[in-house]
Amino acid sequence: MKQIAILSGKGGTGKTTITASLAVLAKNAVVADCDVDAPDLHMLLHPEVIKTQEFKGSKLAVIDEEKCTECGLCREKCRFDAITEDFKIDYIACEGCGVCTIICPVKAITLTERISGHAYISKTKYGFMAHAMLSPGEANSGKLVTLVRQNAKILAEREHSDLIIIDGSPGIGCPVIASVAGVNAGLVVTEPTMSGIHDLKRALQLLRHFNVPPFVCVNMCDINEDNANKIVSFCREHGIEFVGKIPFNPVVTEAMVNGKPIVEYALESDVAKEIENMWEKTLSALQYGSG
Ligand code: SF4
Ligand code: SF4
Repeated sequence: MKQIAILSGKGGTGKTTITASLAVLAKNAVVADCDVDAPDLHMLLHPEVIKTQEFKGSKLAVIDEEKCTECGLCREKCRFDAITEDFKIDYIACEGCGVCTIICPVKAITLTERISGHAYISKTKYGFMAHAMLSPGEANSGKLVTLVRQNAKILAEREHSDLIIIDGSPGIGCPVIASVAGVNAGLVVTEPTMSGIHDLKRALQLLRHFNVPPFVCVNMCDINEDNANKIVSFCREHGIEFVGKIPFNPVVTEAMVNGKPIVEYALESDVAKEIENMWEKTLSALQYGSG
């Protein structure tokens, strides 16, 4: 089974458009939406949820009113101001650090697990999908990404699918690291701007660190041909597989407004054709070039 992660140094490069199209082209791949903080792949793939799991990724302090002597020590020591004047825990402010449980002289405080989000297993018209949503204000998105990837693997094994397409979250932080660990390839979607080039280099560094073979494509390449060519040259100089230059075309926005992947909405468009070419190149390198 192969796993390919689609990445971008930041949001807004067209990663979701491309991932959704690859899910259509791949046929029988399992899709894992690892952008658990702000998932948007569902807007194009329209998953029908068949299983929901609670994700308990953080802790919450609970005060036993029977035991509490209202000495005030916990309020004094909680650096998140999460304990109110009448000794109740502020659900939003509590970080579950556990200091109050140590400090309380009568052991009136315990830590409990709290639901930090939900993971879903769904069916789409293009295949199965694992995805999730972190609750507002919650941390630990890396752990939730790991759960999404585990679910995707179980689905792929069950459905005899030999490919998992992972939509990584933008940036290079913890959830992205959880998205790329152990994958067979990382496809970085970038744009031909100076910040795009900068973000591309950071994403490539991350892939190198995790020994993941990198692939690069430039989205909206014709908005700055010079920068697009710089990216191509950079990849050539560093032995990085460059797989596609996707042109700008307003039909992409039209497809998104209509909630459809571009390769389905406008199959004959230059964008769809280039995404198809890019997929062929990536797939052949993935099957024959990396273990
Ligand atoms: S430290 Fe313990 S006893 Fe004191 S106010 Fe807090 S919960 Fe109550
Ligand atoms: S667990 Fe930490 S953040 Fe939560 S109330 Fe106790 S000291 Fe404050």
